[in-house]
Amino acid sequence: MAAVTSSLLRSSITLRALSPFNPLKRPNSTRLFQSSFQLPVRQLLAELFRHLTSSVSFLRFICTFRAMSRVSATHDEEAAARAAATEANSGAPTIFDKIISKEIPSSIVYEDEKVLAFRDINPQAPVHVLVIPKLRDGLTELGKAEPRHEDILGHLLHASKIVAEKEGIVDGFRVVINSGATACQSVYHLHLHVLGGRQLKWPPG
Ligand code: 5GP
Repeated sequence: MAAVTSSLLRSSITLRALSPFNPLKRPNSTRLFQSSFQLPVRQLLAELFRHLTSSVSFLRFICTFRAMSRVSATHDEEAAARAAATEANSGAPTIFDKIISKEIPSSIVYEDEKVLAFRDINPQAPVHVLVIPKLRDGLTELGKAEPRHEDILGHLLHASKIVAEKEGIVDGFRVVINSGATACQSVYHLHLHVLGGRQLKWPPG
């Protein structure tokens, strides 16, 4: 063991003596070698620094791009909502009529004689189900509700709770009704959004 240690010490002393960084034994050629060695190191460090700063700029660019696309998506939703609102009171059938008549397929979660619940095509949470009255009866939006609609409104809320139970989120879920263009309603057939399956934030946007 002692022999190995002393041989290691000797070889390390020899290496240091030969090393170009040994100030006592530094011939001109070695100094040249050292200065030519330091230059690429400096360049390398400069390059590394440049790379890091450009990575930061790149990251900043990505963040700005993401923020801009979020803003543009919001503008798209608002524009679509405004366009849909122009047709709101025309009485024209909506996409939901085609879903009720099964002309357009949907993933149905719950159905009874008065309501239909199906998964949203563009889910905003792991569980996102729309609950709609089968008969619109003037309920293009909640803002048009009248006393005669009390029964169906209660029925829709109760159906939302059944959906939450079926989807295993009854311990924590949200029911949203967008009413009118300002609230970004895009389909003018009253519908309740049942959302859950993740921690939901408050306030909403
Ligand atoms: P609003 O914006 O009017 O409150 O909600 C309308 C919802 O209907 C949106 O979340 C949208 O994704 C959903 N939706 C629109 N068209 C369809 C469709 O053809 N099928 C399904 N399942 N959902 C739809």
